[in-house]
Amino acid sequence: MTAQFSYSFTTGDGKNKALLGGKGANLCEMTQMGFNVPPGFVISTQTCLSYLEQKRLPDGLMDEVRAQIADIERVTGKHFGGASDPLLVSVRSGSAISMPGMMDTILNLGLNKQTLAGLIEETSDPRFAYDAYRRFIQLFGKVALGIEDEKFDTHFNNVKRAAGIKADVALSADQLQEISELFLMVVHEETGRPFPEDVYQQLEIAICAVFNSWMGKRAVDYRREFHITPDIANGTAVNIVTMVFGNMGDDCATGVGFTRNPGTGENEMYGEYLVNAQGEDVVAGIRTPKPVQEMAKEMPEQYRQLVELRNKLEAHYHEVQDYEYTIERGVLYCLQTRNGKMNAAAMVKTSIDMVAEGLISKEQALLRINPELLEQLLHPQLAPDHDNKPIATGLPASPGAACGHCVFDADTAVRLGKTGQDLILLREETKPEDIHGFFAAQGVLTSRGGKTSHAAVVARGMGKACVAGAEDIKVDVRARLAIVGDIHIKEGDLITIDGSNGNIYLGRIPTIAPRFSEDLKTLLGWADEVARLRVHANVDTPETARLAVSYGAKGIGLCRTERMFNAADRLPLVVDMILAHNTEEREAALAKLFPIQRDDFEQLFEAMSPHPVTVRLLDPPMHEFLPNEHQLTDELDALKHYLTIVKGQRVTLDTLANAGDLPAPFNRLNEDVILEAIAKKQMMLDKVLELYEVNPMLGHRGVRLGMSYPEIYKMQIRSILEAAARCIKQRIPVEPEIMVPQVITVQELKQVKGYVDEIQNEVESQYKIKLNFKFGTMIETVRACTRADRLAATASFFSFGTNDLTQATFSFSREDAENKFLPLYEESGLLEDNPFETLDIEGLGKLMKMAVELGRQQRPELKIGICGEHGGHPRSIRFVHNLGLNYVSCSAPRIPVARLAAAHAKLLETKPL
Ligand code: PEP
Ligand code: MG
Repeated sequence: MTAQFSYSFTTGDGKNKALLGGKGANLCEMTQMGFNVPPGFVISTQTCLSYLEQKRLPDGLMDEVRAQIADIERVTGKHFGGASDPLLVSVRSGSAISMPGMMDTILNLGLNKQTLAGLIEETSDPRFAYDAYRRFIQLFGKVALGIEDEKFDTHFNNVKRAAGIKADVALSADQLQEISELFLMVVHEETGRPFPEDVYQQLEIAICAVFNSWMGKRAVDYRREFHITPDIANGTAVNIVTMVFGNMGDDCATGVGFTRNPGTGENEMYGEYLVNAQGEDVVAGIRTPKPVQEMAKEMPEQYRQLVELRNKLEAHYHEVQDYEYTIERGVLYCLQTRNGKMNAAAMVKTSIDMVAEGLISKEQALLRINPELLEQLLHPQLAPDHDNKPIATGLPASPGAACGHCVFDADTAVRLGKTGQDLILLREETKPEDIHGFFAAQGVLTSRGGKTSHAAVVARGMGKACVAGAEDIKVDVRARLAIVGDIHIKEGDLITIDGSNGNIYLGRIPTIAPRFSEDLKTLLGWADEVARLRVHANVDTPETARLAVSYGAKGIGLCRTERMFNAADRLPLVVDMILAHNTEEREAALAKLFPIQRDDFEQLFEAMSPHPVTVRLLDPPMHEFLPNEHQLTDELDALKHYLTIVKGQRVTLDTLANAGDLPAPFNRLNEDVILEAIAKKQMMLDKVLELYEVNPMLGHRGVRLGMSYPEIYKMQIRSILEAAARCIKQRIPVEPEIMVPQVITVQELKQVKGYVDEIQNEVESQYKIKLNFKFGTMIETVRACTRADRLAATASFFSFGTNDLTQATFSFSREDAENKFLPLYEESGLLEDNPFETLDIEGLGKLMKMAVELGRQQRPELKIGICGEHGGHPRSIRFVHNLGLNYVSCSAPRIPVARLAAAHAKLLETKPL
């Protein structure tokens, strides 16, 4: 049997998105359900892959295409390339996953001198026909022949200017004819050949162009950014669809709609349309369209059909749809539908509403939301009490507030983004080729276009703030200037945009963290009912612990005690401890630290009560608490220089002025104070040199510190246990867990357990209570994985430290890898993902599996969690669910993501990862 390359809308399998692409499959499905879809067919993604591999269209494809066109001719009575009643088609891309605007589309294909005459005769509307013709030449020229838009735009604008015309609609048939001829000339000049007259040749070139666009830079960048791998979408289909026209007069229109409001999730008609226009005009934001509600008055019968279409779409797909339509001479055609991309708030609201309406189940409500999306809900909002006046207002196109330096083009955004600046991309309108600028910017502002313009749709998909169609802003890209009334905004100036209400402000406005909506609470409540994994937080202060509880954390999975050491009131004590010459001096410094740590833990336990709190004993190498060698050398030099000035009594006005630059108390010109400071700095420098390690991350850190300086670990253990005792005395339920980092052998654990047992006895008799707590280990070395059974004999819980374990498995550090070679590895496919972000299931996953199995062989009830960064990453969460872990722990803002991902993990446990 010969391969089938194409499928008519009347026969294609509407469920096979992998083969027909999302758009093609939906067009087939809608056609077969009786929606009014213009006749057409799909060329499969398989054909695209074959084309990309062979670098030519497969034999037999164009024969099939001719047969498909003949079918369309039969149904429509039109003729492709015919002198009378010509058939025109659109040629559109569409892969399994929707990638809005990433690939190419050609409209009005089939026009040439002969069919143009036929179209004029058929419509008796030369203006319409020339308009269609000039659009076709430009689109075909750009997409299929690679000619820059500017080459066409210059002629277009010249004709308009010469005729004194502002709006495109005011161009006459003669002027459009002149433009078409100029465009044909551009094509000839740029390609060295006349514009193709043969309509099948046009079609063949267009099909190749759409296939090629799959490997275009825009599409490749988009797939990389959104992790669209070949198993998710491989190749694009080509949809060839009979043209219907929204620009044949005032009984014609074109529009796009969402079955619900994608900004708020409200169940209402939502969308925009333009009378007498082609679809591109709406999407490109060239004319600002009208809200669909106006159609109810302007075209009541078509509005009724549109409401019916919307209702049928949702009832069929059980999902919010993003659809496009055209009204040709009063008849409504549906041109495409796909699942609507919405922001997180709208996804949550529609999930709750659709369950209440009986349209979907709770499980579907959970599964339809990508957990990553929820982080958006924790995006900043403008402080409600700010009293800045907006300088302009546009359409609230994608919610959240963003502040940054203005940039006027995508390339500049990328360049400045690399320097770490916050940016707002400010453009008249955006196009798909600006996509890299979106990634680099915090927010997007456009002066033209509606809520369904390119800028709005893409920003919403990315969860970035966007204000669109702020028409009071005049953007002059050449002058790198935007003007609002008499205000001039230059490139680099700070502005703030509020995508929730469309306001634009000069300068930076303070933002606040948003609150959890009731809908989100309900949804995450459903998630908790389903999930087996508990979600804990990686936090170290009572404030962040309370925040984590408000996000739904059920415990602290990792309290990094070193963060407590770094606070301003403790660091000097920690430094004294490090500089101690002997155990006694060290113990004296620790005695001062002890009550502070104990109070820290008491507050933390209270904030998290009654949930478990896992406290990790000191982990980082000591030198991290001291300034570095260069800094100390510089400071010493400065002090010594200063000493010579003071000693020489060369106190002049100049030196007095310089003295002001020195920190107090040196500016008191006191020799003794300076000498003392020099001695202390010298000691620090000596210590830093003594502590120097070639590989500090693989050196004297973690439990090895506890072996060398037992008094440090003992102080921490006593702080934890006394804090617990104090809580118990106040009847605050607590569940502390003491965790040891960097363990490689059970001997280390046993030694620390020895300290714990001793201190437990002392604290219990001192406070006259019984302590109830757990003792466990981090699993973050390769040896710990391979010796997990031995460790589990002493540890009653494990927590995978996958940050260090990844470093150990790959033998490279995150900092060096991400700064140097990891981008190259990812781009060239040497590694599929950054293993510090996405858990390396194939490699590191095997070590984890071994550790879980060995650990539970030894101690079946062993509690196991993960507290590396992967604990907040949805795919990694699915993996650890399948491994049988008990909990994941992540930073506070990832908690909603992790809760939903934990529910997904349970619901999808029988499906491949
Ligand atoms: C880890 O290694 O995964 C971990 C949580 O510890 P840290 O990141 O503090 O080294
Ligand atoms: Mg670690």
